[in-house]
Amino acid sequence: MNTELKYQYLFGPVPSRRLGLSLGVDLNPVKVCTEDCVFCQVGRTTELTSARKEWVPTSAVLAEFDRWAGGGHRADYVTLSGSGEPTMHLRFGDVLRHVKASGPFKTALLSNGSLMWMPEVRRDAAEADVVKVTLSAWDEASFARIHRPAAGVTFARLLEGERALRKEHPGQLWIEVMLLPGFNDEPEQVKAIAELAKSLHADAVHLNTTTRPAMAGVEVPRVPEAWLRTVAPWFSPPAEIPVFTGRTKSPAEMSDSALMELLARHPIALEAMAETSGAEIAAVERRLAPLVAAGRLAIEDHDGMRMARVLVQ
Ligand code: SF4
Repeated sequence: MNTELKYQYLFGPVPSRRLGLSLGVDLNPVKVCTEDCVFCQVGRTTELTSARKEWVPTSAVLAEFDRWAGGGHRADYVTLSGSGEPTMHLRFGDVLRHVKASGPFKTALLSNGSLMWMPEVRRDAAEADVVKVTLSAWDEASFARIHRPAAGVTFARLLEGERALRKEHPGQLWIEVMLLPGFNDEPEQVKAIAELAKSLHADAVHLNTTTRPAMAGVEVPRVPEAWLRTVAPWFSPPAEIPVFTGRTKSPAEMSDSALMELLARHPIALEAMAETSGAEIAAVERRLAPLVAAGRLAIEDHDGMRMARVLVQ
């Protein structure tokens, strides 16, 4: 008989590229959130609200954590994240303080940033060694389309809150930018997000795209790796991108139509095409040359990058 007690609020620890071994703490019932993002991997938000309350009993969360820590387990980070926005929990700051008082644990808070405009939320968020906030929109309309927020949750407040957090938070501030085809991946849109991200003076920017099937009822394909690599230097500091497994096809292996399809959505940097496929830059140039000669493609200079842009499909 298996007598091992399961955890209700803890998950992992899971290996995380940036946080090492990370023990997750979930302070939201499925699925309570301030947003209902089209890319959400948890699923549709069933309770869309910005209400802050003790969504799950703090004493039960802390008891689970004490049981886990008392078992001699270790993690590099204890991370508030999970089924919804953790700052909706009225006592998330108490959870962070308890974890820090319990041992040599670093703490992280993964937040969508929607409630950071509240001083009391920022005060508690500052308890975490690392706070990661989302910035994937550039105005109210794009914010509404991507994040489908609760009443009262606005882009203006998100930006105001994230900027204020930067001023007050003594630890690391990271930004996550989720790029989605057809929502926010056009060059001018990415540049607008990058400009706003710059004003946050973050310690790191993480570019992301969908990696798992969308659970939120909207089919959102992923942005090509070469496009992420093309736009990563537009951010300050330059954005980090996910680790993609396997090489993409080299341009030499692609048909004309496959190449034109790849480039149709965005002009892609030749260097990024070479990097993602492992091809020499000269081989990429040779492959594109006939399409340029035929007037179907143009190679243009953008801020020192050579970008291949479709003229005639
Ligand atoms: S903020 Fe996070 S948990 Fe909430 S809907 Fe968006 S992706 Fe899902």
